[in-house]
Amino acid sequence: MSAYRSLFFCFATLISLALGLGAEPTPAKRGAAREIRATPDEPGITFNSVHVDSPYIAMTFDDGPSAVLTPKLLDLLAAHHIKATFFVIGENVAEHPEIVSRAAREGHEIGNHSWSHPNLGKMSDESVRRQLRQTDDAIKSATGNRPTLMRPPYGSITAREKRWIHDEFGYDIILWDVDPYDWKRPGPAVVRARILKETRPGSIVLSHDIHPGTIEAMPSTFDELEAKGFKFVTVSELIRMAAARPSHPSPQPSESVSPNAAGFAFPTPSPTSSQAR
Ligand SMILES: [Zn+2]
Repeated sequence: MSAYRSLFFCFATLISLALGLGAEPTPAKRGAAREIRATPDEPGITFNSVHVDSPYIAMTFDDGPSAVLTPKLLDLLAAHHIKATFFVIGENVAEHPEIVSRAAREGHEIGNHSWSHPNLGKMSDESVRRQLRQTDDAIKSATGNRPTLMRPPYGSITAREKRWIHDEFGYDIILWDVDPYDWKRPGPAVVRARILKETRPGSIVLSHDIHPGTIEAMPSTFDELEAKGFKFVTVSELIRMAAARPSHPSPQPSESVSPNAAGFAFPTPSPTSSQAR
């Protein structure tokens, strides 16, 4: 009886994991609740990861810029020759436009993460529009360019919102497939271990450049990802790689997996799913 019961609980846990009951953080200072994972099924609009046939990944950093931590991270990224993507909060951009300007100048991508980090899935269209427009304007003013990506705070956004936001702003909606839960501040070693365990070719890795432990985790995380053969690109570059992929199936359709020199396996590209899951 107790064996059946523990089997049931294991199963229930697996189901809740599969449903993605974790998610992006609630910045503590904003006092929001836990994250709600959006349903990522709008082809060509929403991306959790990208189907690529080489070991490219995108590191993403949310909720900044932070006056102290973001410049530190930019130094680390420069030392590693890594391009990353920053999903910035508009009111932080207004406070530190020079940091966002530096990030863009150094080749990083800047995406819209709303003005004040509200739950967009529960707001009126007009309020959502204002959140995104103000942030779009702040990014344009800091960097000279408008963003082409947005990430909803907590991953919370409705299917209808995705559609009109995409139509009106031209944004791709970017979620993630690797979440180290760094916002719970588990310590640098745990952040690093989680990222290394979950990252695959085409992964979009979520982290936050407002937590000291996250920044502390990055040098060794970058080293170890590099040692595994991963290469780093911005989210838009990663998406373009999927789009550029030939539409015909792999020449060796019988091999579902082919190990590469770096020691990990890439799934054979599927001709039907060029974009997000
Ligand atoms: Zn956020």
